[in-house]
Amino acid sequence: MIKVLRLGHRAGRDDRISTHVGLTARQWGAEEIVYSGERDTSMMESLEDIIDRWGGDFTVNYREDWRPVIRDFDGVTVHLTMYGERIDEKQEEIEKAVEGENLLVVVGAEKVPRWVYHNVDYNISVGTQPHSEIAALAVFLDRVSEIKSEFEDADIEVVPSEDEKLTEEKN
Ligand code: SAM
Repeated sequence: MIKVLRLGHRAGRDDRISTHVGLTARQWGAEEIVYSGERDTSMMESLEDIIDRWGGDFTVNYREDWRPVIRDFDGVTVHLTMYGERIDEKQEEIEKAVEGENLLVVVGAEKVPRWVYHNVDYNISVGTQPHSEIAALAVFLDRVSEIKSEFEDADIEVVPSEDEKLTEEKN
């Protein structure tokens, strides 16, 4: 089971990025995203609307008190940060550590509290330059998981095409 914790959401400013963090988590096989920071029901509802239509078993939750999500997690915890150890050097070790275990991936927005750095199993960088939580999450999950292709109970599915935009309504 893969779960993603998105820290420090700022309503309005982060809506699109936080929605895309959720969609990225789902595409790479996560089962749940937990948002913290400002409670933003409209962002979470618009994400849930997309998920309802495109299917799959993916849960969207909010936790104001996010520390227990890390502290009480039963599995391996990874915080993605440009200050962490290089993914290329730790990938093999993490792959072994998550075999048969749950995985929690933590991504931030602005400044991530120092507490996180000291309470996760791994602080991992995807390159040591600042970029985006969406990119970091996609690259990390692609290294340790895979692109999910089956989304149960979808109302709509893409029909892959060389030169057309094709979809199929399922219900
Ligand atoms: N100074 C931040 C940091 O600690 O990585 C950059 C803030 S960035 C706007 C928001 C989030 O994107 C970070 O909290 C982190 O999760 C992710 N991120 C950005 N660059 C990253 C990188 N090179 N490697 C891993 N994660 C990164």
